[in-house]
Amino acid sequence: MRIDIVSIFPEIFEPVLGGSMLGIARDKGAVEFAVHDLRDWTDDKHRTTDDYPFGGGPGMVMKPEPIYRAVRELASRDPRRPFVVLTCPQGRRLDQRLVEELAAKERLLIVCGRYEGVDDRVRDIVDLEVSIGDYVLTGGELPAMVIVDAVTRLQPGVLASPASAEEESFSWGLLEYPQYTRPASFEGRDVPPILLSGDHKRIAQWRRLEAIRRTALRRPDLLASADLTDEERAFAERIIEERSDQAKGPCSD
Ligand code: SAM
Repeated sequence: MRIDIVSIFPEIFEPVLGGSMLGIARDKGAVEFAVHDLRDWTDDKHRTTDDYPFGGGPGMVMKPEPIYRAVRELASRDPRRPFVVLTCPQGRRLDQRLVEELAAKERLLIVCGRYEGVDDRVRDIVDLEVSIGDYVLTGGELPAMVIVDAVTRLQPGVLASPASAEEESFSWGLLEYPQYTRPASFEGRDVPPILLSGDHKRIAQWRRLEAIRRTALRRPDLLASADLTDEERAFAERIIEERSDQAKGPCSD
């Protein structure tokens, strides 16, 4: 997969893209990153990328011309058509399903907004606007890094064990089960004995139930679309009921 990023702050990406797992993924050739300075597509001596909003109002708006030129030229540099993403708090909210969709593309081109956002005509050359959550950041660089990180770790050969991506939170439509490592006993807190049993079938069953329990307790909203058997759904409902009974507390009459 190839990922192009267009930003007015290209220098802030290298420490993230070059380090840790993303750097290893790049070195292995699992993903190719290229970060571009939007100012390279300006045509005035000040390399201007923003201007005042028509109609007045606070802040500046990113001009359409440099973004159009950048997207068109970068698209033409590679025979694979890029899927163009605009980082935007008004976009589709990023979740693991969207990460999987983006990870399946051959090529992504991510445009990072700044200031009050981009001239609305930029939306005509964008395939998808993506938000990383219902809050407003100063720019699209952190969202772009979030997208790149989440998408890269799903590329073949990046994770040491592909099963870890399959079992993680959200991949089953559930949160992940609790994880433990050594020591087996720590300050009086013991690891659940089943995990030390070596019985992989029972461990898998325990993990599945714990994933359902954790989801029911922390994110019951996810259960509606999770793939559960009737028995598992009844288990989840019981957990939710027990919790609301506990919340009501002891009967006072
Ligand atoms: N005025 C815009 C609005 O109200 O929708 C917000 C602009 S924000 C200050 C500047 C840029 O940061 C946006 O164009 C976008 O690229 C990026 N950005 C901010 N918050 C974001 C979020 N939650 N998800 C994705 N991108 C975001």
